[in-house]
Amino acid sequence: MKFRSFGILCVLCASVASAFSLDREAFAFTQYDLDVHVDPDLQRLGVRGTLILQNDSATTQKIAVLQISSSLGWRSIRTGQKPLQFVSQAYSSDIDHTGELSEAIVTLPEAVAPRGTVALEIAYEGVIVLDATRLTRIGTPEAQANSSDWDQISAKFTAVRGAGFVAWYPIATEAGSFSEGSSVFEIVGRWKSREAAATMHLQFATPSDESEPPELLLNASTCPKALEAKGQFVADCTYQSLGSVVPTFVMANYEVVERAAIAVHYLRGHKGAATGYADAADKVIPLVTEWFGAPHGKAQTADLADSNAAPFESGSFLLLPLAPTDPKLAGLAAAHQMTHAALTSPRPWINEGLAHFAQALYLEQQSGRHAALDYMGLHRSAFSAVENEKTTVPRSEEEVSHSLVNTPVEELYRSKAMCVWWMLREMVGDAALKKAVASYRPEQDKEPSYLQRLIQAQTKRDLEWFFDDWVYRDRGLPDFKIESAFVRKTLPGAYVLTVTVANLGAAGAEVPVTVRFAGGDSTQRLVVRGKSHAVIRFEVAKAPEEVVVNDGSVPESDVTNNTFKIEGEAAP
Ligand SMILES: [Zn+2]
Repeated sequence: MKFRSFGILCVLCASVASAFSLDREAFAFTQYDLDVHVDPDLQRLGVRGTLILQNDSATTQKIAVLQISSSLGWRSIRTGQKPLQFVSQAYSSDIDHTGELSEAIVTLPEAVAPRGTVALEIAYEGVIVLDATRLTRIGTPEAQANSSDWDQISAKFTAVRGAGFVAWYPIATEAGSFSEGSSVFEIVGRWKSREAAATMHLQFATPSDESEPPELLLNASTCPKALEAKGQFVADCTYQSLGSVVPTFVMANYEVVERAAIAVHYLRGHKGAATGYADAADKVIPLVTEWFGAPHGKAQTADLADSNAAPFESGSFLLLPLAPTDPKLAGLAAAHQMTHAALTSPRPWINEGLAHFAQALYLEQQSGRHAALDYMGLHRSAFSAVENEKTTVPRSEEEVSHSLVNTPVEELYRSKAMCVWWMLREMVGDAALKKAVASYRPEQDKEPSYLQRLIQAQTKRDLEWFFDDWVYRDRGLPDFKIESAFVRKTLPGAYVLTVTVANLGAAGAEVPVTVRFAGGDSTQRLVVRGKSHAVIRFEVAKAPEEVVVNDGSVPESDVTNNTFKIEGEAAP
């Protein structure tokens, strides 16, 4: 691998000299207008169209960088019919499944001032075949790599995801490598936030047999389709603003199960699984509506041909292999997908955090609180590793920018966010949190504190400290410890237990404390701020035997010190 990048460096010595000073992320692509031809039999993609680039940097730019997957090649780049000079080079980056981009370094006819724009007419073409090089070269076994990077155009089945998977439309990013921590996710996150307001218009065309046109699916805002006389199937698709959507197209001989709120597209032989999934979606709609509002538009689910393929979601568009499954697992996936159909947010920790929170609510409804806590426990192990990694070094500015409110790290904005939503729910109560969520407007979410204000409008509680520890900053996780527990017998059959709980971690939380006695238990909630203590009193009818802090509803770094055995006679 080292040898390979060294090779690329030498071959490109001349252009790399100038490339070092390139600001690849200077321009945002504000508008895409592309004619996309897909030929499944040849596995080919051919694109022509116009891009509008806006200089988002603070300095004037004379060079623009356009990148596409390395299996595609640039044919022309023009402005106002005038061909532009460009250098085409390979650029090693794990942002594309091939591990490499075809980069065009374009000399613009005139320098573009900050906020200024330039329109480029472009053409490129090539093939998109199954290619998991970026994963196999870091040692991922081939079968596993192919089930993760399953994108391809082929006669039997076509599914191609955009930025972060296959650069089938032009992008411009710095290089990311899977061998360097979360760099790929950070770069994809930066690209998406630069593109959130971009619009994309795609004129899709593919050769088609009149008797059996393919089913073409895109996650666009609108996408009317038609079968043209010349044996062409066309679609005119518009993404009003990309938001966090990754433009994706799928083409196969699907059949469909249609319901009011969802369409499930399935491959031959999978009708039972598709119907099961549609049923599961129908069943979760009341719960989702109660918490997050009614679904907007129709959610789309489509089958993946490889039965081991990793699922992919983009808003309420979900690709997964449809196979007979436990109705509870189908319900879990459907709760997530239908939450996306009901509510969107530009902030991943709200968008994904709430969709995962909905899964915990679903499990609680189906099997009780314990099932929900167990499920969150599985997620906790995912993000605890990330948290522990970070507490070994002092917290830098960089890490502040990795706080939940703007983290690109999936374990945090999915798993940790779910736990934060659960804690908020237990602190303010279901009614207040539902009202706060109902008042959420994504277009008004401009300040990090917007959500906190919505929740505080529904409760008398001060939540500043909680948001500060969990959302605005990343103070890691709490570590609760029962420091002491004193019992006093007040009257015959009456005991007062005084419990001191320490929090050795830096993040505070409200946590349940449970005292157990013969034949029963009693639970109260206690706020323990980071690096401090708090005291709570219980009055119970039987001699207390044991005190436990945290039932698993608060993520914690060390749960081995949470139980305290009360021994001996109670003091009179
Ligand atoms: Zn999701």
